[in-house]
Amino acid sequence: MILLDGKKTSADIKEEIALEVAELKKQDKKAPHLAAVIVGSDGASLTYVNAKVKACERVGFESSLIRLPKETTEEELLNEIAILNIDKDINGFIVQLPLPDHIDEQKILMAIDPEKDVDGFHPMNVGKLALNLPTFISATPFGILELLERYNIETSGKDVVVIGRSHIVGSPMSILLAQKRKVGNATVTLTHSRTKNLSEVTKKADIIIAALGIPEFLKGDMVKKGVVIIDVGITRVADSSKKNGFRLVGDVDFNEMSEKASHITPVPGGVGPMTIAMLLKNTLLALYRQEN
Ligand code: NAD
Repeated sequence: MILLDGKKTSADIKEEIALEVAELKKQDKKAPHLAAVIVGSDGASLTYVNAKVKACERVGFESSLIRLPKETTEEELLNEIAILNIDKDINGFIVQLPLPDHIDEQKILMAIDPEKDVDGFHPMNVGKLALNLPTFISATPFGILELLERYNIETSGKDVVVIGRSHIVGSPMSILLAQKRKVGNATVTLTHSRTKNLSEVTKKADIIIAALGIPEFLKGDMVKKGVVIIDVGITRVADSSKKNGFRLVGDVDFNEMSEKASHITPVPGGVGPMTIAMLLKNTLLALYRQEN
């Protein structure tokens, strides 16, 4: 069984980006600039956003972290977005989710200039993705495509089963893999909480993308031998043996699956680490697109 090592792959991608940025600087060109907006100081969100800003610095990007108090009104946040939209120095920006309850998330995402929407959540970019037009593919699906490509996993003509239909993972993943593209051309089945006899479907799959958020849901007897498993799930499960009191568990029973799968992403260290690398890649892409 081959481990699809997201930690190493994301480090490789960041290294490639850093080299590209160094080359830009050598030619006296501008480095990409990513801004991140966070409202409130919810612990996990702040950790994520800080990790994104740090990753920018490591590859030579400019970065800005805009921290707004949790009482920020929707109008104030929209004003902040309007400023970032017209700031010529900023190539891409993200608004860290979730937002406080009094702010309409969809309204905020709609206000971001699609050309700077490096998270790829604006409906215009989602629409372009559905039409297989150049866009920003959101970080998690983009990271999965990249892992499949770099490990030379054939998708063309394969039976892929996606479990979970969220807007950020399952749905875009199912669309992308069915498209006529390098990592694509698959016959895709999108399954969800109302799917009947899921095991019957998963047993036929050559590749399974599990993104449902139920720890160790996918068991060894639900798949055929040789299956490729992409485990997107990350759930914190209480574990008193750990210093922080929890461990991260995927949607796949890793021990059972290692007897069956030909390739598998570990949790942690699989899909998760890829997301920041792909956000950086989108920001570099934003710079190139804005310069053309
Ligand atoms: P979600 O929580 O929004 O939705 C879950 C989906 O799973 C729904 O579409 C639902 O229909 C489906 N589902 C629920 N129970 C099911 C069942 N019994 N059988 C089949 N389908 C079922 O999904 P999400 O936001 O995509 O998150 C899924 C998991 O992926 C979570 O653990 C989340 O933390 C993780 N995640 C990881 C990354 C990463 O970077 N690795 C990124 C995003 C999400």
